[in-house]
Amino acid sequence: MHEISLVRTIFRTLEDNFSPEELERVTAVELKVGPLANVEPVLLQNAFEAVVEQDEIRFKNVVLRVNMVPILVQCPDCQQITEVHNYLFVCACGKPCGNVVQGNELLIERVEMSDQ
Ligand SMILES: [Zn+2]
Repeated sequence: MHEISLVRTIFRTLEDNFSPEELERVTAVELKVGPLANVEPVLLQNAFEAVVEQDEIRFKNVVLRVNMVPILVQCPDCQQITEVHNYLFVCACGKPCGNVVQGNELLIERVEMSDQ
């Protein structure tokens, strides 16, 4: 499953960026996900729990938060940034617009840690 490998990538990224001592203090991981990233938040949560249970039990107290962000396009003609609804890629000025400036991302936005 696509989401399983994403979750594993998230854990590898945490390991690359934090010391083992810091990893023990992680309480929450917040992701920023765009609708075009092709990720289903519910499946991602399920995958997170499955991976933790199987082989990342040290992260069992970590909460995963998935923050969805809207698709934004920027019009090459009028430079306006418009939110895309229902995959209708049209600028507020009426011109069709496929210049996506937000909506593809899958990022670790924030990592929360306990104090001690
Ligand atoms: Zn426009």
